[in-house]
Amino acid sequence: MKTDFAKTLDISKKWLKENVKRFAFKKLEREIIKPGICVKCGTCVSSCPVDAVAADYTQGTMKPILVGKCIGCGICYVMCPRTFANRSDIIGEFRSIWKAKTTSNVRGQNGGVASELVAHMIEEGFVDAGIVATHDKEKPWKPKATVVTSGEEARDSHGTFYSQAPVVGRMLQAFQEGHHALAVVGMSCAMDSIARMKTHPAGLLRIDLRRDVITLGLFCMKSFDYPGLIAFLASHGIKPASVEKMEIAKGKFKVIGKTLGSWPLADLDDVATKSCSYCTDLPAMNADISLGNFGSEEDWTTVLIRSVKGEHVFKSAIQSGVIEAKPLDEKSIQFIEKMAKFKMLKKYRD
Ligand SMILES: Cc1cc2nc3c(=O)[nH]c(=O)nc-3n(C[C@H](O)[C@H](O)[C@H](O)COP(=O)(O)OP(=O)(O)OC[C@H]3O[C@@H](n4cnc5c(N)ncnc54)[C@H](O)[C@@H]3O)c2cc1C
Repeated sequence: MKTDFAKTLDISKKWLKENVKRFAFKKLEREIIKPGICVKCGTCVSSCPVDAVAADYTQGTMKPILVGKCIGCGICYVMCPRTFANRSDIIGEFRSIWKAKTTSNVRGQNGGVASELVAHMIEEGFVDAGIVATHDKEKPWKPKATVVTSGEEARDSHGTFYSQAPVVGRMLQAFQEGHHALAVVGMSCAMDSIARMKTHPAGLLRIDLRRDVITLGLFCMKSFDYPGLIAFLASHGIKPASVEKMEIAKGKFKVIGKTLGSWPLADLDDVATKSCSYCTDLPAMNADISLGNFGSEEDWTTVLIRSVKGEHVFKSAIQSGVIEAKPLDEKSIQFIEKMAKFKMLKKYRD
């Protein structure tokens, strides 16, 4: 007769079989045990339904090892406190996922959706302004956090700056200047800051009933310190004023303009923003709407709708005809998952 715990393991195994990819102990060994990330809690040892995992103490400290035939049920991997096994752990909760593009003739970084959504929200009165990034007049490609109050200004803000813009600080200033409802565009770190203001007991956006924010989070693998990025370009004979577009695609950092340039992303490690090495969130999990290119063709934007508010705005933009959207297929979602996991596990590899 099966023990209660064996029955529990059966239910867990059945759920994993039906709901997620099956993982073998080898994966746990490769990703967690060999790199030294194992917390030595014994979960994998005691949860293996076929007793194939044991605790080895020969090196003086506990190490999980395979002593029998792994059936690949995945319990050890999924129960481990240091793995990311569920889709929602990796790319966050979302209500729907799309690839989309603007129907205007604005050429965005990808599908021009981020700037178009800000424009739509201003034009339809969802918000009274947007907080975006624009070029510092004196220093091309130095992002300046800017308040835009018209659709035209919002569309003009299209494109990606690979350096930090203090959009959250600008948002708070905009409130002090009298704005009440704002659409804020930023990277996942900026989204985290706003999320804290909404959820912390002393959070500014939790206390203040008169202000509200909708957040548009940009996917982000890493960003670069502005002076370091400009010095990197200078070392390759590229002047910022001659650059029309910068992009990260297929593991390369590319510059498009009078001079073309393409380098492996790792070449820019020295100029990467230090705080990026502590970040595990590629797809801006705390935003109302997350936008990136992973998962879509170059001129489309991948859009994750995460909140009811985000869904309302996105549907409105589709109904008004300013955005066209198609549901994203499973293979593309898996690619986003792969890239998000790559960023999460990078912290383990470094
Ligand atoms: C540092 C950084 C790294 C990124 N890395 C990836 C990646 O690895 N993979 C991926 O799929 N996507 C990445 N993205 C997102 C991608 O570059 C596009 O922003 C996204 O696909 C939306 O494209 P779009 O054409 O819809 O946006 P657009 O319509 O072109 O609008 C972009 C909006 O973002 C604002 N903006 C641009 N830069 C900043 C900034 N630094 N801070 C705040 N607001 C800004 C602009 O002002 C504009 O309002 C990154 C973005 C950034 C900022």
